[in-house]
Amino acid sequence: MPTKYIIVTGGVLSGLGKGIAVASIGHLLSSRLKIVPIKCDGYLNVDPGTMNPFEHGEVFVLDDGGEVDMDFGHYERFLGVTCKSKWNLTMGKVFEMVRQKERRGDYLGKTVQYIPHVTDVIKGHIFQVVEEEKPDLVLVEIGGTVGDIENELFLEAMRQMKEDVGKQNIIYVHLTYVPIPHGVNEQKSKPTQQSVNLLKQRGIFPDIIIGRCSQFLTKEVRAKISNFCDVQPKAVITGLDVDDIYEIPIIFEQEGLPEIIHKKLNIYSPPDLRKWKSYIENIRHPTKEITVAMCGKYTRLEDSYASILEAFNHCSAHLRCKINVKWVETTDLENARVLEGVDGILVPGGFGSRGTEGKIEAIQVARERNIPFLGLCLGLQLAVIEFARNVCGLQGANSTEIDPDTAYPVIDILPEQKQITDKGGTMRLGAYTAMLKEGTIVRSLYGSAKASERHRHRYEVNPEFHEILQDNGMVFSGVSKDGRLVEFIELPDHKFFVATQAHPELKSRMEKPAPLFYGFIKACLG
Ligand code: GLN
Repeated sequence: MPTKYIIVTGGVLSGLGKGIAVASIGHLLSSRLKIVPIKCDGYLNVDPGTMNPFEHGEVFVLDDGGEVDMDFGHYERFLGVTCKSKWNLTMGKVFEMVRQKERRGDYLGKTVQYIPHVTDVIKGHIFQVVEEEKPDLVLVEIGGTVGDIENELFLEAMRQMKEDVGKQNIIYVHLTYVPIPHGVNEQKSKPTQQSVNLLKQRGIFPDIIIGRCSQFLTKEVRAKISNFCDVQPKAVITGLDVDDIYEIPIIFEQEGLPEIIHKKLNIYSPPDLRKWKSYIENIRHPTKEITVAMCGKYTRLEDSYASILEAFNHCSAHLRCKINVKWVETTDLENARVLEGVDGILVPGGFGSRGTEGKIEAIQVARERNIPFLGLCLGLQLAVIEFARNVCGLQGANSTEIDPDTAYPVIDILPEQKQITDKGGTMRLGAYTAMLKEGTIVRSLYGSAKASERHRHRYEVNPEFHEILQDNGMVFSGVSKDGRLVEFIELPDHKFFVATQAHPELKSRMEKPAPLFYGFIKACLG
């Protein structure tokens, strides 16, 4: 069977959940097909690693060290695949490739132009991924909305693909918005018509339209969209507003999306949502409830911590417990009081010095009051600082990221990082294996002597302080293979005080919640 392609574009508004829609389509088709998701982003950053989480939400990190769009989190969780850095194509990467080719002389004698040279690079990249992975189906998500200048070249490349791969092997799905204006109380199809017109002007004629709406689309509005946009009535699908994103595959199945795709692409891969539904049932009908304080500085934007919230959902599905998140903004914190009554304290990753003292205070509260604590990356580093200051008596201990002149640099930059001046893609990134110490909580949670988790950091526990920390009772429950880097710490004689230099939330899946999260939530449940 030739590789099939589904190209997903968006219109009217951003933030309609295109990533979730793509992941859900993938989920529904994954039973018999090998699927590769590819995301095209129009910005000129090479990757989102250099963007602030407020700008772009969480930076997702892959096994291979790629810093990619957070939609890759949805792809991995919904499709059960391990994605590769190459599958995120940004305009920054495209222009970099074009420039390299031009300098190398690949275009010698020619005027280098958007069409065909840039569009060829885009298509060439996708075909290279296909060559490497040999998938049955490629799902291409075009970021942004049709009409954005920065997406024009991607759209043009997608239009051209039809000729390259044969029209029987490719379909176009367009996600739009169907508003119900206040007072009018009627589903309106005009924005969809206009956005499909924009798409048609670019030579792309959608086969399927998904209308995001707060209700199921009415027969009338389906007929209207079908008529004006020239798609079959059956191919107009409701993208219903839902409380949790896990319901989207179920809605799409109900709406008959898999059959339409099967027919149009001549494939067959029937969905099996039984297990998925049972997880959702557990999330919806919890038998217990806890509150976890999330102590961070990006708490204004929940997307900054998307994978952590997903890992919580995965725990909810297995432990049938509702996890309330209490967002604690550590830049303006009177911790002790805010933390009253919470069942657990989580300190997530972060950069820079803003808000760190508040987090350290929260960690002290967790340690002294025997409240379950989970520290992630910066969370581990701050737990070490708190312990150094308040248990080991190293007054003013700090990380050199926060206070370069500290007398006790218990957290210091990795030696291999010292010479690096470029900021993009230069951290310690991707999956690394840690060796776990026998008899520790961490080892029992992983049920193995090794654990591989993803990383994104420049700083580490300074080896000069390993001894004093351990002498005072901190247990290094996991270290790098060469024993040099501390990957996991824990405190004995505490309900649950565990932290890791890694980001285990990135590999958490519905079928298998991240072990540390599972242990943490269980401890919160008491
Ligand atoms: N800023 C810290 C470092 O670079 C922690 C990074 C993180 O939490 N991801 O090491």
